[in-house]
Amino acid sequence: MSFNKILGHKEIINYIQSSIKNNRINHAYILTGQDGVGKLTLAKEFAKTLNCEQHSTSCCDQCISCKTFDSNNNPDIIYVTHEKKDITVSDIRNQVIKNITVKPYRNKYKIFIIDEADKMNIQAQNALLKTLEEPADYAIFILLCENYNKLLVTILSRCIMFKLRPLPHNLIQTYLNKTFNIDFEQAYLYSVYSQGSIGKANQLINSTEFRDVRDSAINIALNIDNLNLIDVYNTIDKIKEDKETLKTILDILYLVFRDALVYKETENPKNIIQRDKITQTKQIALKATTTQLINRCDALSEAQNKLLFNINTQLLLETLFFKLKEK
Ligand SMILES: [Zn+2]
Repeated sequence: MSFNKILGHKEIINYIQSSIKNNRINHAYILTGQDGVGKLTLAKEFAKTLNCEQHSTSCCDQCISCKTFDSNNNPDIIYVTHEKKDITVSDIRNQVIKNITVKPYRNKYKIFIIDEADKMNIQAQNALLKTLEEPADYAIFILLCENYNKLLVTILSRCIMFKLRPLPHNLIQTYLNKTFNIDFEQAYLYSVYSQGSIGKANQLINSTEFRDVRDSAINIALNIDNLNLIDVYNTIDKIKEDKETLKTILDILYLVFRDALVYKETENPKNIIQRDKITQTKQIALKATTTQLINRCDALSEAQNKLLFNINTQLLLETLFFKLKEK
């Protein structure tokens, strides 16, 4: 692995490499961005390069530091873990505060990588803050989080923050095409579903569950007019509990109706995203009016937004299904 093998995030990588080159390393960094966007990969590459014995802007992969890093045995790179839902003050005490007084074993820096740092509770954050206020010369912290607003302002003010944006579709598409040897159309489909997250793309491509969920969502879309009230409630019962699956179903349904709408208007299969489902898309397009398809897309996008808040999923789905079935 090296910086140039990391997908995307080029500006951040350039910044990091020029800080290393100019020997302007801060004691604390935050990498923030959605799940699967590449925070941990980037943090690890940063840490490995900082402690590489070649002291260059890319790690050498050959020195003892790099080799022990690759086998997860580098004593000067510490991954702070947590067993409970939150990162507690005892996690920070035992893994950071007790450890930081001991100088690095053989490397220039002692680097603490705190994944899911936004799960630190207030006591844990305050304990970490004390360390950040008077850091040992050799200590570096890399905090990873999805929501940096959960961190104390006093912590934020001591860190250099990098915001990792969702990766562009074409980058993920090319990656999937090369890595998994799948054709460009399939790769495109998965790149859309992964919504800019390389972690999610990797997970979806190997998931039979995702394929099953997708098939049943497309079935719902195909049969939406024929579903009676009992069917609707049975479907709601099946999907309302698991929020992750529910989110996936809403995403799929949105794409299905979006594709049907686009096909109805343009009659060009090239414009649709789920090209492997062209037959079903044509059927859905044929059975509904343009207005119906627009309304269905609107209803789904509204449901997707509501799901971000802790709304009652039963109510959300009832409203959604009634809108989807509207004539
Ligand atoms: Zn090295």
